[in-house]
Amino acid sequence: MKTVSRQGWVQRHIKDQYVQKAQQDGFRSRAAYKLMAIDERDQLLRPGMRVLDLGAAPGSWSQYAIAKLGDSGKLLAVDLLPMDPLPGVEIIQGDFAEQTVLTGILNFFQAGKVDLVLSDMAPNLSGIATVDQAKSLYLLELALDCATLLLAPDGKYLFKIFQGAGFEGMIKQLRSCFKRVVIRKPKASRAKSKEVYVLASGLIEK
Ligand code: SAM
Repeated sequence: MKTVSRQGWVQRHIKDQYVQKAQQDGFRSRAAYKLMAIDERDQLLRPGMRVLDLGAAPGSWSQYAIAKLGDSGKLLAVDLLPMDPLPGVEIIQGDFAEQTVLTGILNFFQAGKVDLVLSDMAPNLSGIATVDQAKSLYLLELALDCATLLLAPDGKYLFKIFQGAGFEGMIKQLRSCFKRVVIRKPKASRAKSKEVYVLASGLIEK
């Protein structure tokens, strides 16, 4: 049973136009096209920006972002998993929920000076929907705290979230921190997937 469904996954993966395109374009994963589509619509990335990329491995968002930031930009990538080096990108390997990782981020960036916080983090799935959603929301709570601490007043926060329990609560919480909150579902995000991306801007001073 498992073998059949795994084979199905491999076949779907091979046929996927974004997988093929990523190989042709030299991106480490098809996820690059999600950020690209949102960037094309919302003009997220400009030369010289300071950007934090949470849940960055294998690194396609960082690849796309650093190409747009250029030499004057600053990009820090964080992931639990090892990530191959990328020119111009600083990498921290570790659990974002650990204090040492947050300290590393704060040593790299000054609070209130970051232009864009990205989070494509997705915890390892246990298969138990309620547990997985709770883990994901916990990481997002931490990421929101981190974003509100680090972002410049005109900074933006883009993150992935799965629709389901806790989704509306997170959006409500976000609206108490940011003036503008919009939801994006880029074409490269599979229609069947509950993932959507939320873009928040206009930090509300507290
Ligand atoms: N944006 C990436 C790219 O373009 O290559 C893909 C990110 S992948 C969908 C999600 C990542 O979140 C995984 O690499 C996973 O290791 C990372 N992740 C999950 N939980 C994490 C945590 N607690 N701390 C740091 N990274 C985490």
